[in-house]
Amino acid sequence: MRLRNKVAFITGGARGIGRAFAEAYVREGGTVVIGDIDLGAAERAAAEIGPACSAVYMNVADFGSIQAGVDSVVDRAGKIDILVNNAALFDLAPIVDVTPASYDRLFSVNVHGVLFTMQAVARHMIASGRGGKMINMASQAGRRGEALVAVYCATKAAVISLTQSAGLNLIKHGINVNAIAPGVVDGEHWDHVDALFAQYEGLPKGEKKRRVGQDVPFGRMGKPEDLVGCAVFLASPESDYVVSQTFNVDGGQWMS
Ligand code: NAD
Repeated sequence: MRLRNKVAFITGGARGIGRAFAEAYVREGGTVVIGDIDLGAAERAAAEIGPACSAVYMNVADFGSIQAGVDSVVDRAGKIDILVNNAALFDLAPIVDVTPASYDRLFSVNVHGVLFTMQAVARHMIASGRGGKMINMASQAGRRGEALVAVYCATKAAVISLTQSAGLNLIKHGINVNAIAPGVVDGEHWDHVDALFAQYEGLPKGEKKRRVGQDVPFGRMGKPEDLVGCAVFLASPESDYVVSQTFNVDGGQWMS
């Protein structure tokens, strides 16, 4: 029960990794609010997780929606102790086919969303005088280039960089900012990624997943549950002296 009496706000927690974190934080005694653009899915997930979990609408690509979402969490729960910036989009294309629309979509969710949700939550944490924990979902894609994945890789490199700067800036308020960089984690997200690779690499659907699963150090794709130990550590007092770090979890050095 390392998160007893703590309130966590998890963006994009309606499914996948964010949902696994919501379940883990509730198991550790915390109260969780999921902020997601898919409010119906977020409400269903919260109902399945139990009474300590609830949902609010939030579009992290929209500055006003971030402010409204964060304010409503504080109104409802009284405070935010832990923020997980997890909402993100994926797309891929060779450089000659990247469109401004795809670039704008990915940067507005993956980078704008992380920065301005940190900002909105930091203002509440600073005003409360109690500090807090922020965990940004980066990716091992942010540590390298990938031939077909330039824009997503660039957004996740930006998340690693924002984590470094925000960590250094906010620690004086007792706010620890760190990141998690997963490798390949199976789920609905990877079904979509696999289908996109299939278009460009001519692989049958499912084959990309099979190949990357063999290439990673554990010899299988990750599962959202593989990440929860790191996510609980970074949300708990055990990480009080950890600042600006990005932790590779799962997948190790795949293709880096
Ligand atoms: P997912 O696609 O399964 O879930 C993303 C969630 O974000 C969904 O619930 C979606 O509705 C929500 N969302 C999308 N746009 C939003 C917006 N504008 N505002 C609010 N919510 C929005 O993703 P996942 O696989 O669980 O990944 C979670 C995080 O981990 C992401 O940041 C992702 O980039 C990162 N990551 C995933 C993998 C992987 O292999 N799955 C690997 C590395 C990093």
